[in-house]
Amino acid sequence: MKDNNCKEIIINGHKLLCPICGGNTFWENKDMVNSKWGFLLGCSNKKMDIFICQQCGYINWFWNE
Ligand SMILES: [Zn+2]
Repeated sequence: MKDNNCKEIIINGHKLLCPICGGNTFWENKDMVNSKWGFLLGCSNKKMDIFICQQCGYINWFWNE
């Protein structure tokens, strides 16, 4: 996992914490969702944000209309 792109994430005023390891730095990936996962999930018109935990790799999904 690359460290230079990892950062703390704030969702609606709440700092995102990994539910698995409690980590607070995440790797953000939006392009992957729009081009690949969005199609697979049948929601290519939706905007989804993915934040991957830097420590354990847990994927936090957020759905944005
Ligand atoms: Zn984690």
